[in-house]
Amino acid sequence: MVGSFLNVVVWRLPRGESLLYPPSHCPKCNHAIRPWENIPIISWLCLRGRCSGCGLPISVRYPLGESATGILFWIIWHQVAQRQLPISIIGGYFFVVSALLCAALIDLEHRIVPDSLTFTGMGLALCLAAGFPMSRLALSRPDDPAAGNLICHWALERVGGADWPARLPLAAAAMDWLLGLLMGFCLLAVVAEAGKRVWWGFTKRKRDIMGYGDVKLLAMLGAFFGADACIFILLLASVLGFLYGVLAPLFPKGRGRPSLPFAPFLAAAGFLWMAFGNPVFLLFRGGQGDF
Ligand SMILES: [Zn+2]
Repeated sequence: MVGSFLNVVVWRLPRGESLLYPPSHCPKCNHAIRPWENIPIISWLCLRGRCSGCGLPISVRYPLGESATGILFWIIWHQVAQRQLPISIIGGYFFVVSALLCAALIDLEHRIVPDSLTFTGMGLALCLAAGFPMSRLALSRPDDPAAGNLICHWALERVGGADWPARLPLAAAAMDWLLGLLMGFCLLAVVAEAGKRVWWGFTKRKRDIMGYGDVKLLAMLGAFFGADACIFILLLASVLGFLYGVLAPLFPKGRGRPSLPFAPFLAAAGFLWMAFGNPVFLLFRGGQGDF
């Protein structure tokens, strides 16, 4: 059902339409979608992918988006249970999965990442940090090596001593939020500004190498997952983008296809972080005592 709503978001948000009104209808014959025609996946299969009013094909992206959302939610749920993370984080995680899916699909089609998505995420992350500070701090607890948040721990120790999180969980969680937000923003803002200048230096033409939509998307991920996550997510997204750039021309369909925007790679890397934590950290730590 969330996936069904996300389909609406992906279609209407970049077009500036209201998400709630008008209710779902066929774009050709205006046939209002009846409740039984709006059951995720099942209705599309029963209607054999066609509008019951005029027979216009209904895009396969609807059942695909619904299935993908369901599968991604299930993976997150499973990982949260397995790593015994606090259950209060699941709402925020589900929001991030949804936002990443929408950001990736909207960026693919329109080459923008809407501010309303990323700003909502940053605000929600702050609300969750304020509402459930212990859950947020538990995400970077030392005994879960996949979730180590070294930068925040380092900063917390400098500012208030090692026991700061225990004494003032709210302030510590808010600081984790702020550090992540700044780290995400600064990392990609540097890339965006440097790219602009290098392009200008070589071609004497103005062009954005990286849009600020991507910058704000990484800032949102930092706001949810902390400063360490930004570094890992940016590294992984760059590797994924590089692999795509190298491999895509090898396939006949990839020839002449315009290069992909960056948000889908950021989204994939962000999801992998959420589901599996930080493998780089595990690698360095080697599972033995202190880092
Ligand atoms: Zn129709």
